[in-house]
Amino acid sequence: MTVIRSMVLVSDDPLSRERNAGAVQERFAEEIRRRGLEGEIAVHTISGIRCKTVSPLAIVYPEAAVYGPMRVEDVPLVVEEHLVRRRPVPALMPPPHKFSGRLAWLPRRKGTLPAEQRVVLQRVGVIDPESLDDYLAHEGYEALRRVLGTSTPADVIDMVYKSGLQGRGGAGFPTGLKWRFVAGAKSKKKYVVCNADESEPGTFKDRTILEGDPHSIVEAMTIAAFAVGADEGYIYVRGEYRLAQARLRKAIRQARQAGFLGENILDSGFSFDIHVHSGAGAYICGEETALLESLEGKRGEPRFRPPYPTTCGLWCKPTLVNNVETLANVPAITRNGWQWYRMFGTPGSPGTKVYTILGNVKRRGVIEVPLGITLREVIAIYGGGMEDGTRLKLAQTGGSSGSVVPASLQDTPMDFNSYKQAGVSLGSGALLICNEDTCVIDLARVLMNFFRVESCGKCTPCRVGTRRAHAILTRISRGQGTMSDLDELETIAEALATLSNCGLGTSASVPLRDILRHYRAEVEAHLRLKVCPAGVCAMEGSRD
Ligand code: SF4
Repeated sequence: MTVIRSMVLVSDDPLSRERNAGAVQERFAEEIRRRGLEGEIAVHTISGIRCKTVSPLAIVYPEAAVYGPMRVEDVPLVVEEHLVRRRPVPALMPPPHKFSGRLAWLPRRKGTLPAEQRVVLQRVGVIDPESLDDYLAHEGYEALRRVLGTSTPADVIDMVYKSGLQGRGGAGFPTGLKWRFVAGAKSKKKYVVCNADESEPGTFKDRTILEGDPHSIVEAMTIAAFAVGADEGYIYVRGEYRLAQARLRKAIRQARQAGFLGENILDSGFSFDIHVHSGAGAYICGEETALLESLEGKRGEPRFRPPYPTTCGLWCKPTLVNNVETLANVPAITRNGWQWYRMFGTPGSPGTKVYTILGNVKRRGVIEVPLGITLREVIAIYGGGMEDGTRLKLAQTGGSSGSVVPASLQDTPMDFNSYKQAGVSLGSGALLICNEDTCVIDLARVLMNFFRVESCGKCTPCRVGTRRAHAILTRISRGQGTMSDLDELETIAEALATLSNCGLGTSASVPLRDILRHYRAEVEAHLRLKVCPAGVCAMEGSRD
């Protein structure tokens, strides 16, 4: 497999196209071909950049060097000097202050992959996760010292609120606001709970953080507890994450011995301690109220809301529940300030996002990039392109409960607002990339099977709806479906979305609805013609 070592992205907005961006892109491709470098250097377009004065732009990775306005005659010089001799050409670069929008993050990239920016994963793979000394040598517990030494709880909440940090578990709720609700609740006893029950298929970003940098979660929870007035915390860890649990327990012991946890932390008068609780393998316990039920020793079933956990959570005391990735941002924000944090991502969705990339790409794994990067960029830059020269058909963003994003949306910036406007959601951070050999009926059937098994059974729309949808999809995949199945699937999706008691049922409707909306022709081909266009379903009349 050839690994792309450099990439050229040519801006593709209307202004750039008007100013000959297409010819610039073609010239890059031609020059690279002429030198026999097409296996090492890729050329693509990039949209979503706004720059009135210097378009068209060409951005060269991994250096993220920006050239513009690019003329066709400048291309050979950039190829020769930058891409061959590795010497950027400052004379063709515009001043950085002229950029706006998504381009703002490009010159500030850090990390091991092109344009990757590591806030949450900054120590993962760099330090020994079982060494407190190593953590301290990499700015560990500096944020906690600063918070306890110089800030009030209100200051800390204000900083998190102004940073614009949103929950990274999938919902995107403003973290500072949630902290404010808990801080404002009247109670002598409050809890901080870290939701580390990462069970979404294809998602292993929280595991990477817990195993690679456990002290960061201990530090973040202690800061959060100080801010909201809690004295006890729980980390609810997925049962299968044995290594993460062991490392967290060790980190907690080390932090207690060193005075970062327990009674009178760092002589500040503030006390807080953390327990680690192992889950037992139920997907539903990732839902925060089911998680609280489970922590209390009951069956993990979601609670009716309101009241919300911020006022009546664990043992009906005000409880702050935050996801691992959300908390992992906190020490960096309190250490560097909210203005620093807002330099990453987009104005509406600041910060970075950790994604797991899976499926039909050349490279799979975990990346941390600014919010606002597009699916096309993720696939081209981090995934190394599509596997075996195939084309993107869809991506599922957020594990089984995530949106099914069609290829036509691959240039939509991946941030909470842009995705919401496009009618899809970002989810928890798993990106399942699927090529044209993927059958949407087969995909929907597998997903419904997952929800059917994981439904806790408390409410009828989810318990019966997921079973019924799975049975219908199985029948369709065998060539036994009828057009009335389409109506029934739509009714089930609607019922799941509107009548389910908790997020599991609601999210089960998401991929089903997306598939019926974006791939209706393919579904109908299964029903009317008894043909599976992707050639996956073993059905009567398929091309197999
Ligand atoms: Fe249980 Fe599903 Fe109802 Fe949630 S939606 S309470 S998982 S049956």
